[in-house]
Amino acid sequence: MYPTQHILAGLLFSAVLLLLYPTIGFLGAVIIFLVSFGIDVDHYFFYIFKKRDFSFQRAYQYSIEQGKIARAQGKQYSAPLNIFHTVEALLMMGILSLYNRIMLFIFLGALFHFILDFWYTVYVLRMPYARRYTLSSYVREKLFL
Ligand SMILES: [Zn+2]
Repeated sequence: MYPTQHILAGLLFSAVLLLLYPTIGFLGAVIIFLVSFGIDVDHYFFYIFKKRDFSFQRAYQYSIEQGKIARAQGKQYSAPLNIFHTVEALLMMGILSLYNRIMLFIFLGALFHFILDFWYTVYVLRMPYARRYTLSSYVREKLFL
């Protein structure tokens, strides 16, 4: 999904959560909102790691290009590893959320983001291969293929 879509959806999600569960507080809602789109920073991290370039604009263009390459290559496409978009990262956040209230807000924002990305990639774009959902699949591919 595009950043603007994540921002709008995250704003709506955190506002609804605050209305339904006022005990999360304004700060909790703000954290959930910020994480609901901020987690995409791992696309930027991957770009920096891959290209050794800190340009945010080129990183964004790279991400757009990767989508086109994924569509062209189909199931042959080797999706990049976006570390915060993995089940393992979510699991870690989920476990930490049991012990810390701030981590609970971070987990909720990340989970919402992950679900939106999954829905968009699999059901809207119909390109489930365009994303890597587990860290282990990346490690397996790099080690054994
Ligand atoms: Zn994302």
